[in-house]
Amino acid sequence: MKLQFLGGAEEVGRSAILVNESLLLDYGMLTGNPPQFPVGSVEPDAVVVSHGHLDHVGTVPSLLSGDDWPAVHWTPPTDELARTLARDTLKLHGGSYNCPFTETHVRRMTQQSEHHDYGETFAAAGHEVTFYNAGHIPGSAHVLVDDGETRLLYTADFHTDDQRLVSGTTDRPDADVVICESTYSDVEHDDRATVEERFVESVRTTVWEGGTVVVPAFAIGRTQELLMVLDAHDIDCYVDGMGTRVLRMLRNHPDYVRDAAALKRAKSNARIVSGRDGQRKRIARQNSVIVTTSGMLSGGPAMTYIPEIRRDPTNKICLTGYQVEGTPGRELVERGRCELNGGVVPVAARAEMYDFSAHADRHGLLSFLDDYRGAPVFVNHGDRCATFAEELRADGYEAAAPEIGTTVEV
Ligand SMILES: [Zn+2]
Repeated sequence: MKLQFLGGAEEVGRSAILVNESLLLDYGMLTGNPPQFPVGSVEPDAVVVSHGHLDHVGTVPSLLSGDDWPAVHWTPPTDELARTLARDTLKLHGGSYNCPFTETHVRRMTQQSEHHDYGETFAAAGHEVTFYNAGHIPGSAHVLVDDGETRLLYTADFHTDDQRLVSGTTDRPDADVVICESTYSDVEHDDRATVEERFVESVRTTVWEGGTVVVPAFAIGRTQELLMVLDAHDIDCYVDGMGTRVLRMLRNHPDYVRDAAALKRAKSNARIVSGRDGQRKRIARQNSVIVTTSGMLSGGPAMTYIPEIRRDPTNKICLTGYQVEGTPGRELVERGRCELNGGVVPVAARAEMYDFSAHADRHGLLSFLDDYRGAPVFVNHGDRCATFAEELRADGYEAAAPEIGTTVEV
C-alpha cells in the first residue's frame, strides 16, 4: 500500500492522505490568513471523509472541477456539515484566491455524495472501506481501508471518553498499519465531570452576582455540547452563531448523537438569537448566559457581545477549548485584552479557560494504540508528531511522523 501525506503532517489543519494514488482520505483546509490547502494536485477516483470539521473536509468541493468527479463517501451528518462549511467558506472568501471552489462545485457534492453508516463496508476506488464511530463529533469516523493486501486504520480525530453529545470510541478493528492523530499527545485532560462542575459553578456565580457570561464555542460539536451541559444543570441560556444551524441539523440525525432526547431538551432550553445586533446588545445587558461562535474570538456574533460586556469585571468570558497561538482568544487569556474592530482594547471582564476537548488526551491515545502493538504507526495531526513518534518508539512501537509531501510504502 502506498501512502502520500499531502497535509495534516506535523501540523493540525488541511488533513489529506492519498492511498494507492486513487483513494483520498480527507481533504481539509488550514484556516489562517491566508488559508492553506493540501500540497500537490490530486485527481482521486474517490474521496472518503472522516468527519465534518473544516480541517478535514474544507477543500473537498475543489475536487469536483474538471471532467471526472470522484465519488464522495461520508456519513450523513458529515455530508450536511461539509455543505454548511462550504457555504460559509464561500461567504467569507468566495471569488478570491482564498477559496479554491465555487457554488457550482458545492452543488456537485450532492450529486457525488454517497452515504454510509458505521460498520457498513463499501467499495471506493477499488478498496474496501468501513467507518467506525470515532466519538469526536456527530458522524465522525475512524476509516478502515483494505486494498486486498493491507488493512490501514486511519483514526482521524477521536475521543476515547464519552461527551454528552457523542459516546467515546470503542471499536478497534484489526489493522496492519495505523495513521493516528496526536492533537493532545502531551496533555492529560482533567476528568470531564470535574471540568463541567467548575464551569457550571463559575457561570452560576457570575449570574448570581448580576453579570453576563459569554461562552465562545466552536459551531460544530462544542456549541451543542455546552447547551447540553447548561441544560443538565438548569441554567437558561441564549445560543447564537453557526452553532444554531448545526443544532437544528442534528435533529435529523438522532442515531449519530448519544442521547437525542437530551439534545432536544437542551435545544428547547436555549433561546436562539435571530441575529440583529440591537437584539444582541440588549441580551448582553440582561444578566444572561450566551453560547456563541467563534470559539477563538476570531469573528462571529461573539464580537458583538464582547464590546458590550468587556468593561464590567462582574461579567465573564468562558473560553471552552484550546486557543491557537495568535488568535484573539489566546491574547485575551494571556494578556487580558482583545482585538476589536482593528484596535486592541483592555477587557475588565474575567476570562477563564475550560478544556471541553473532543480529542483523546495522551492517556487516551496510548490506550487506543495499545490494541495495535506490532502494527507500524504513522503519527499525524499534531504540533509535536515527531516527538510523539519518538516516545512511541521508546515504548516498543514501530512509529514515524511523516513530513508533508512524503510518500511511504507499507
Ligand atoms: Zn475534528
